[in-house]
Amino acid sequence: MQSLDFAERYSRQILFPPIGAEGQKHLAAARVAIVGCGATGSALASLLARAGVGYLRIIDRDYVEPSNLQRQVLFDESDAAESLPKAIAAARKIKSFNSQITVEPHAADLTPQNAEELLGNVDLILDGTDNFETRYLINDFAVSKGMPWIYAAAVASYAVTMTVLPGETACLACIFPDPPRGIVETCDTSGILNSAVNFVAAIACTEAIKLLVRARDKLRRTLLSYDVWTNGFTEISSAKPRSGCRACDKHDFVHLAGEGRPHITLCGRNSVQIHERQRPIDFDEISHRLTPHGPVRHNEFVLKFWSEPYELTLFPDGRAIIKGTTDTAIARSLYARYVGS
Ligand SMILES: [Zn+2]
Repeated sequence: MQSLDFAERYSRQILFPPIGAEGQKHLAAARVAIVGCGATGSALASLLARAGVGYLRIIDRDYVEPSNLQRQVLFDESDAAESLPKAIAAARKIKSFNSQITVEPHAADLTPQNAEELLGNVDLILDGTDNFETRYLINDFAVSKGMPWIYAAAVASYAVTMTVLPGETACLACIFPDPPRGIVETCDTSGILNSAVNFVAAIACTEAIKLLVRARDKLRRTLLSYDVWTNGFTEISSAKPRSGCRACDKHDFVHLAGEGRPHITLCGRNSVQIHERQRPIDFDEISHRLTPHGPVRHNEFVLKFWSEPYELTLFPDGRAIIKGTTDTAIARSLYARYVGS
């Protein structure tokens, strides 16, 4: 495809005076990491890629499934049929509508060990995750480096978001010293409306753009929550860091230190993730070995193996997601039996 002229491609956004030609150049030069590319992450990535953010790093540990298609706007039925890692599928889809920006996909789980590699060297981190463990890790990393990040979450019909400017506004740990009750249910247990996702992504994306075009005075300094079903709306001030905050006041980055962090974790409904070993996997070799034990198939990015009632998904770095159990001991023994101990 012939390359579209920059000014023409972004003309409708450049016409918006607070962005203008200058702001568009800032967007083109900007580097953003998006952690989690499910519903919220895909909506954020789609909006920012179309808006012309020049570099997007997309980090996601999961693969596309049919139940994602109701709300995860970057994926198609063919991605689910191939069980493509979400980061890879997202990068491919973005390339089809904006080939002029750089997208760097990482099919990986963000951990304290790889946080520097996956979150370093960007201007802004966006939250597309579905769990507080990862959000606290992002918060610790961002606060320790003085990098801005935007918290965004949606469950059922409820959306909540907050822009964190370390040293200037409250951080996640200022507002929630412990994981909040009431929004700890997940999409897997409470369902989710795609409109709640798009609502929170629209707000968070606009905050991101304001930040990147240097319109810091326009940033929202509140924790905003909105229920698209009941129309309930609340805002809590996040204008100042909380004195005594573990992260931004005491610089006690427990989540980044990763103390006591398990290498085997529950991951969505009825599944367990194992990432205790970093070992490259030869898909051809293991596929050959597993064939007598049950159906197995793989592509370049992911290998799937079925042993009723379990489904094992293996990534090239040795990480696995085992579906069909929440018992970590069973998952561990299946991994040892089929992949190796
Ligand atoms: Zn804080």
